[in-house]
Amino acid sequence: MPTYEYMCKKCGPFTQLRPMAECDLPSACPECRARSPRVILTAPGCLTMSAEEQRARMRSMRNLVQEFNVFRWAGRMLLDAARMRHRRRVLARTRAARRTAGAA
Ligand SMILES: [Zn+2]
Repeated sequence: MPTYEYMCKKCGPFTQLRPMAECDLPSACPECRARSPRVILTAPGCLTMSAEEQRARMRSMRNLVQEFNVFRWAGRMLLDAARMRHRRRVLARTRAARRTAGAA
């Protein structure tokens, strides 16, 4: 469960763990139990990240997405299948050649 920030008129800001679906509902202040509205006091991580870090994260995300490219994946699978089929054919041929050599 994520942590959200709320502001009590009397006691000031407090944080609370809540399910995401309930985050915008007012929360009871832990001091005086007053219903307190949600506030956003700290910026989410992505906004406080340095430009350098944002670029690095974007790069690694792009690489990851590229790695999971479905066409590349399908292509690799077809190549593997072709290689296996070729190997099987070569093995069958050498086995047949050995058999005829043994018979002679
Ligand atoms: Zn309070």
